[in-house]
Amino acid sequence: MSRTVVIVGRPNVGKSRLFNRLAKKRISIVHDQPGVTRDVIMTEIKDGDYTLLDTGGLGFKDGNITPAKLIDASETQVGFAIDTADLILFVVDGLEGMTALDLKIAQMLRKSKKDVLLVVNKADFNEDKIDLAEAYRLGLGEPVRVSAEHGANEGVLRDAILTKLGPIPLEDLPDRSAEKPLCVCFIGRPNVGKSSLSNRLLDSDRLIVSDVPGTTRDAVSLDFQFKGRDGAMYPFKLIDTAGIKAATKLASPVEYFSRLRSLDSIKETDVVFLVLDAMDGVTQQDKAIAGEAVKEKKPIVIIVNKWDLVKKTFEKDGGIPGYKSERDYREKYEKAVFERLFFTPGSPLIFVSAMSGYEIDRMLNAAVKLNRTLDIKISTAKLNKIIGYLAERTPPPAVGGKRFRVYYATQTGTRPFRIKIFCNREEKLTEQYRRYLESGMVDEFGLNGCPIYFDLVGKE
Ligand code: GDP
Repeated sequence: MSRTVVIVGRPNVGKSRLFNRLAKKRISIVHDQPGVTRDVIMTEIKDGDYTLLDTGGLGFKDGNITPAKLIDASETQVGFAIDTADLILFVVDGLEGMTALDLKIAQMLRKSKKDVLLVVNKADFNEDKIDLAEAYRLGLGEPVRVSAEHGANEGVLRDAILTKLGPIPLEDLPDRSAEKPLCVCFIGRPNVGKSSLSNRLLDSDRLIVSDVPGTTRDAVSLDFQFKGRDGAMYPFKLIDTAGIKAATKLASPVEYFSRLRSLDSIKETDVVFLVLDAMDGVTQQDKAIAGEAVKEKKPIVIIVNKWDLVKKTFEKDGGIPGYKSERDYREKYEKAVFERLFFTPGSPLIFVSAMSGYEIDRMLNAAVKLNRTLDIKISTAKLNKIIGYLAERTPPPAVGGKRFRVYYATQTGTRPFRIKIFCNREEKLTEQYRRYLESGMVDEFGLNGCPIYFDLVGKE
């Protein structure tokens, strides 16, 4: 993941100039005047592989800027920097010298134990006037003297930042070497065809299929190979489950334990196949089971099994009342899935038959594709742009007179996707709006089927 460098300092020390200088931007965003700001401004610095943030606008609300408000805002900014940054650039004004607010900020920074680079700005023509001893006394290490305005010592500052950040971390390459199999499992109500699908995949009779509900054998895992669309061989590990039963429908302790085991197998999987019955439609129990997979933040492919029965009905038995054709039935089924399983993250939907083998390859190809998607790295700049766009298109609802507001977001993990969101107050994010943001990101970054974790950090 990209590193984050955050600029802090009291107003008018030249944070914005410095930001533009490092970003090599000519247009200066003059937002160092209190009140004329956006919360957080960012840019990607390619040479050093880091994201640079200027927090100068954070914490200022409309109205008069009083000295007390300035202090509050600075504290908010420094707090934000401590939470987000790998390195903090603390800018002080070399012309004016230290103020009480500078000392206060320095104290917060020292306490945080974060990496800090002290930058004495406005050092161009006034070398003599700057009391470096004073800067040393802040206890934040050796200061770098620069002129953001004229560019003096720019190279020194860039180098100092890179030295402090350390070497660019190796891309944490996905641990998906050829030997590591893709773990999948089938979950679903009894009798939807989980064992039959397993058998179809394994082409063996090692798993028991039965007409009696609930007789699937307990958790076993089996390896097999699959030749993907691209011709490569993909190793899979199928983790069989005893079939999750909705918590409210548990009949006996035996069922209780078999349910636990099924949830364990969800934890081990890379991709979950949620199996539905083509003739039954989406039931309440299907919904509950889907919920379990979503709770675990597992990517889901929705499988509608027994499609041979639907085909046969339309071809031989005069169809199903209320549906014009197989295609009509399929379209309505699809619609019902998206309505009832609205909380799944844009999962692919595949109609298959364990009996005839129809579209079984497609099902596995979907898993291969989803498994690749799980390693996507999202650019911080793009992520923030999308969040800004989503918030503009549909603003968050006011909760208790206040709206949820995002300052800055960054991806912190894959498998599952983790997005850290710095916001005003985490409790203002409603479940519905969370889902809106998630599905917006899923759409935008092509993460279909992959749920997203949001880690919220509130800072008002
Ligand atoms: P599980 O409880 O989910 O593991 O379901 P099973 O695999 O035991 O299947 C339940 C019943 O549905 C069995 O009688 C299977 O033969 C039948 N079945 C499973 N898949 C299909 C299919 O694709 N088409 C048809 N027609 N029947 C199926």
